[in-house]
Amino acid sequence: MSSPLDGLTIRGIRKGLTEKKFSAAEVATEALRYAREENPKTNAYLHFCPERAMDAARRVDERIARGEEPGPLAGAPVAVKDVIVTRGVRTTCGSRLLEKYVPPYDATAVVRLEQAGGVILGKANCDEFAMGSSNENSAYGPVRNPVAPDRVPGGSSGGSAAVVAQGTALVSLGSDTGGSIRQPASFCGVVGVTPTYGRVSRYGLVAFASSLDHIGPFARNVADAATLLGVIAGRDEMDSTSAAAPVDDYEKALTGDVRGMKIGLPKEYFAGLASDTGNLIQGAVDRLKWLGCEVMDISLPHTEYAISAYYIICTAEASSNLSRYDGVRYTFRSASSDTLSDMYRNTRGEGFGAECKRRIMLGTYVLSHGYYDAYYLKAQKVRSLITGDFHKAFEKVDALITPVSPFPAFKLGEKLADPLEMYLSDIYTITGDLAGIPCMSVPCGKTSEGLPVGMQILTRHFNEAGMFRLAHAYEQAAC
Ligand code: GLN
Repeated sequence: MSSPLDGLTIRGIRKGLTEKKFSAAEVATEALRYAREENPKTNAYLHFCPERAMDAARRVDERIARGEEPGPLAGAPVAVKDVIVTRGVRTTCGSRLLEKYVPPYDATAVVRLEQAGGVILGKANCDEFAMGSSNENSAYGPVRNPVAPDRVPGGSSGGSAAVVAQGTALVSLGSDTGGSIRQPASFCGVVGVTPTYGRVSRYGLVAFASSLDHIGPFARNVADAATLLGVIAGRDEMDSTSAAAPVDDYEKALTGDVRGMKIGLPKEYFAGLASDTGNLIQGAVDRLKWLGCEVMDISLPHTEYAISAYYIICTAEASSNLSRYDGVRYTFRSASSDTLSDMYRNTRGEGFGAECKRRIMLGTYVLSHGYYDAYYLKAQKVRSLITGDFHKAFEKVDALITPVSPFPAFKLGEKLADPLEMYLSDIYTITGDLAGIPCMSVPCGKTSEGLPVGMQILTRHFNEAGMFRLAHAYEQAAC
């Protein structure tokens, strides 16, 4: 059965509403019905919030009835990754520890998207505390890839990518620390955007690795992703790391004209690709040349150190951030403890899954007395070198094109036994997070087995408009 959202875009819904072809309440009712019916196939939603959705839809209809501007996202059905807090709606972070946690406040991104007329249908499944590359680390079961149900949707924002691919939401919010928006977008064949660090407020995003965490959009096309980012971006008093830089008009940037744009192909990102992936990226590059881009080879020499630096920085920060889950405040508490320290130990032992424990142990180790300089500080220095590589590249080119992942969606269970192999899924996405630059995944075709492949675009800090222009021109030329 096809989705009631098929053929619709953010702009299409807004137009249909203002021309009175349908109401926001009708769109929300139909979208919820379809999402609930289809969800057992993928497990992409953890829970729905129908009352909140219908309230939001009614507010949009009232604005239209009063002749007011209904907002850029008017009536658009949205899903929100379950690491982003929603007032009165459970936010589990894919963890047993937070199974019953109902936040008393909304994340800034959530407030902004509802003010813009967006309708939140429910919360999307994800790896526990956003740690993973396959969505198999969720305490509530894995998500299946809607394109190939025996395969993973990618992770950690696997649910957010799957709902858009499945048509059970029009757009969604995810979070990216080392690739968790772009990699699942690539595996599911949708657009996924990691904005500049600080472009979107992290207030209300449950912290994994604070110096790397980003909130960003998923959509079926570049224009919808641009609209959603435009709504949630901008300075927020509640997050001191959010940037004051003005937010460009991203929709206006979608001119289709990329003639003379300079594109770099970093050679370190093209070794060891699955052959279909390599061919599809090459085809996309040829398309960009045809559109008038100038393409040149480039080198980012510190790329090989990215995975090591990332897994030191992110585990160190995670071990500190996750220390708050102690069984005393908002989490599940183990029933069987005689002393306070047993209670901490049992709660964390029973509550956290294996991947979180692995990272907490590694992170605690690298931060422990005497090791800080040897590991965390050194990793931060490597991070500066990687960022420096990008700065140098952007003196010569406007954007870089790379694959998102060395391979397409893999089979459920295939990489579970080998965490290091799993970590390699993010080899091409981690660098963008370490440097804090904007990057995105745009679908660029399917392998002979029918699996989607994404092309990654990276550009300089706060150049989301240029990135969208390139992605959109490619998308239009590729259809
Ligand atoms: N897969 C990476 C990790 O497990 C990235 C996760 C993310 O971006 N949240 O750390």
